[in-house]
Amino acid sequence: MSEPAPPSHPGVWAIVVAAGSGDRFGGLKQYAPLAGRRVLDWSIDGARSVADGVVLVVPAEASEEPEPAVDAVVVGGVTRSESVRAGLAVVPAEVGVVLVHDGARPLADHALFRSVVDAVLAGADAAVPVVPVVDTVCDSRGVPVDRNQLRVVQTPQGFTTDALRRVHAARPDATDDASLVASGGGRLRLVQGERWNLKITEPGDLLVATAILESR
Ligand code: C5P
Repeated sequence: MSEPAPPSHPGVWAIVVAAGSGDRFGGLKQYAPLAGRRVLDWSIDGARSVADGVVLVVPAEASEEPEPAVDAVVVGGVTRSESVRAGLAVVPAEVGVVLVHDGARPLADHALFRSVVDAVLAGADAAVPVVPVVDTVCDSRGVPVDRNQLRVVQTPQGFTTDALRRVHAARPDATDDASLVASGGGRLRLVQGERWNLKITEPGDLLVATAILESR
């Protein structure tokens, strides 16, 4: 583990959560090779394109791995929320905006990171990228659900650091930080996500991600 370097100026920091066990993938998907690098290297690059500092949250077994592209490396927890809190604990106190990004989302590009940061700078407590549901949807009993009312939630998500620290002080457990801020009365802003901002979940997703990266 390494200590965070002082930020060049107090501004935007990003927490890249990459401490999952990858059960559905069958291994640590964040370290899988993707277009000549590791999945998480692409995710760090996106975060770095807008952030003054980046905290990488890793599984205990990877804590000694050198990570020269980030400012701090910390070990995550059993749940994603615990991993977010581990990252948040080393974000310097004076930082005003913090992003949380899944290490398993290597295709989020600079424009998406920028629009999330801008939404927070424009006054939101939380900004979250969403995309419409393209498939027809039903519930677990087969009852149709109106997809026009639904959105798929992505990362990066952006927050005022105060808002994120406030909701995490209660040690909640959720897969989505923006909904925590919204349910605590924070101002939530939805921004347009990207259809191809995939979360690597199964090995086949790497084939799709490779094709997309190679076409850029
Ligand atoms: O499991 P899932 O793909 O939904 O996880 C989303 C992101 O959260 C991944 O990048 C994963 O590494 C991270 N995560 C974490 N700590 C956990 C569980 C998930 O950092 N305990």
